[in-house]
Amino acid sequence: MALKIGLVGLGKIAVDQHIPAIRGNKGLELVAGCSPASAPDGILRYPDMGSMLAAHPEIEAVAICTPPQVRHQLACEAIAAGKHVFLEKPPAATLGEAASIAAAAARHGVTALAGWHSRFAPGVESARNWMLARPIKSIQIRWKENVRQWHPGQKWIFEAGGMGVFDPGINALSILTRLLGGHALVRKAALHVPSNCSAPIQAELDMVSERGVPIDAEFDFLQVGQQTWSILVESVAGDTMALHLGGRIMEVNGKAVLDEPEREYPAMYEHFRQLVAEGRSDVDLTPLQAVADAFLVGKLHSAEPYYE
Ligand code: NAP
Repeated sequence: MALKIGLVGLGKIAVDQHIPAIRGNKGLELVAGCSPASAPDGILRYPDMGSMLAAHPEIEAVAICTPPQVRHQLACEAIAAGKHVFLEKPPAATLGEAASIAAAAARHGVTALAGWHSRFAPGVESARNWMLARPIKSIQIRWKENVRQWHPGQKWIFEAGGMGVFDPGINALSILTRLLGGHALVRKAALHVPSNCSAPIQAELDMVSERGVPIDAEFDFLQVGQQTWSILVESVAGDTMALHLGGRIMEVNGKAVLDEPEREYPAMYEHFRQLVAEGRSDVDLTPLQAVADAFLVGKLHSAEPYYE
């Protein structure tokens, strides 16, 4: 039997990734979606989650693709109604909210998935194996994209709880924490917040792994020209490994060893289907912890106002 899904939030990521990934998986059925204003073609739409769930009690799971600021309330309502929840990243706007969703799912006996899509990029597991096989000297993250190109009209990103440049940056941190198999501890951070916004547009982080490996990260939302989503690793012996294009390409000592088409969302939905079948949840908060810690120890710098 296909798992019956309702989509909550019908914006960019729902249209670009969730709808095709659900429709491409025979074990899933897209019943309906809800969004206050957006109405993509070919999907039965309701204005809000309550009316969608009332009209379709057969929905077994919801995928919440809204901005993070409203995710906790929606997730808790869905869980209380007995639905499994697939949470777009970040799983909530705060650590407390994310932990509360996981606890509610456990109480109600439903599945919750924190959907760290970048962890499903083709190079990530090979990179992790490469790192497990040798002592590591250092790690660098360079995550630089043009917010005007990739996030047009998404005002919520620069509002409180929208995370600013950490909206894409948390993808790098989700890969990093998977590679490390644990926490990335933030020692220092510089957060550059436009004077008319509430979230950073650029950030630099000094981190360290639990084994003491230094990690430096640069996140930039104002990158024009070449866009960069790379993680660079150097071993103690001097070998290098790099993940580029968000984990799609893996290089060792400068040569590509893996270059596969990405299928992050199909793979993530397979994982979700499996979790539901096994009655388990997967809510890893380590990427969100690193972002929260950057806000806790970070020095705030006022930057030029941002206008789209
Ligand atoms: P978006 O284009 O702004 O879409 C968000 C959608 O959520 C909008 O359509 C909005 O409604 C809807 N919404 C807001 N409040 C709602 C509510 N209470 N109930 C139902 N729908 C509600 O943003 P996005 O790019 O899709 O991003 C959404 C999430 O996905 C973010 O957490 C982001 O980090 C994550 N994500 C985005 C990307 C990407 O490439 N864009 C990639 C991976 C993950 P209306 O438009 O109907 O007003």
